[in-house]
Amino acid sequence: MTVAFAPPAASTPTSFQPPATAPLVDPFGRHVNYIRVSVTDRCDFRCVYCMAEDMDFLPKRDLLTLEELDRLCSAFVARGTRKIRLTGGEPLVRRNVMGLIRNLSRHLESGALQELTLTTNGSQLAKYAAELADCGVRRINVSMDSLDTDKFRSITRWGNLSQVLRGIDAAQNAGIAIKINMVALKGVNDHEIPGMIEWAHGRGMDLTMIEVMPMGQIGEERIDQYVPLNQVRADLMGRYTLTDLAYKTSGPARYVKVEETGGRLGFITPMTHNFCESCNRVRVTCTGTLYMCLGQDDAADLRSALRASNDDHLLNDTITAAIARKPKGHDFIIDRTLARPAVGRHMSVTGG
Ligand code: SAM
Ligand code: SF4
Repeated sequence: MTVAFAPPAASTPTSFQPPATAPLVDPFGRHVNYIRVSVTDRCDFRCVYCMAEDMDFLPKRDLLTLEELDRLCSAFVARGTRKIRLTGGEPLVRRNVMGLIRNLSRHLESGALQELTLTTNGSQLAKYAAELADCGVRRINVSMDSLDTDKFRSITRWGNLSQVLRGIDAAQNAGIAIKINMVALKGVNDHEIPGMIEWAHGRGMDLTMIEVMPMGQIGEERIDQYVPLNQVRADLMGRYTLTDLAYKTSGPARYVKVEETGGRLGFITPMTHNFCESCNRVRVTCTGTLYMCLGQDDAADLRSALRASNDDHLLNDTITAAIARKPKGHDFIIDRTLARPAVGRHMSVTGG
């Protein structure tokens, strides 16, 4: 198959550079070996907890090109990154994103990278599932908050449930394992949680519940959407037998087995339970801003480092200095007394 851009050729350094292969370890001894990279801030949905309906998107020139994204990801791989998750916005609406995925798959083939994956709303999966599988993508996360067509439309504003379900079918047919992510929204979809558990587990998929996080102005009050997952878990225990599992992915979810379905249920609880002590990841926005913590504003500008020079010396130095500043944790608070979200940027900018 034709790949629309070639992986960058190794540059010829003008002066001697030691190989930048030192693993990335932060001041708290956490090995950073997982990057989440947003490839676009754009999306074909407008989920109510994520975006305002009339979002302003970034000018295209501000985005990293696909070549720059490849260089950036490859620099992290050379420093010990074992897992790359592409996200957004909706990663599969970025033009020629499959060219990037195809090129990054060389790191899977070489064994340097263990996993290349993505988080998607599923709208384009029917089109791309087979090619994703062919590129070595083995597991993906699909975000889906309701199985009710009208409810799905009202949460996503623009989404089409049957298109997403066709995408899930296509991915499963291609042999890709799926984890469903569901954001729990008070009075909106919380009553659907048992139905979602039975549907997902019936299809051999894990389900992970997510607490709504205070990121970016969305024109609605987050406190009105927020359901603490310890409450959800307590309610589910009246209905199911939940057994704690030691199972961990490289993400922050804590898992239980639902004995009645035999499936796994995860809880991502940034608000009620701080998961920072085991954090092994950093995030890069589609403009090349490296955030060392989802819930803090400190960041490093990798785009300037990428554009300043064709070799990766400055890029590596910038990454090293940034990891040395990775904070111990976040301090999200959802509180009526706060007029602003705890973090001003939207999840679609940082990448979920
Ligand atoms: N468009 C893709 C998708 O929806 O899967 C990838 C990007 S999306 C920002 C990644 C994840 O973040 C989704 O599972 C979404 O539900 C979640 N998300 C977005 N805004 C959130 C918020 N304010 N609080 C909690 N989760 C959020
Ligand atoms: Fe788009 Fe994902 Fe945000 Fe929904 S959660 S608006 S699908 S980026």
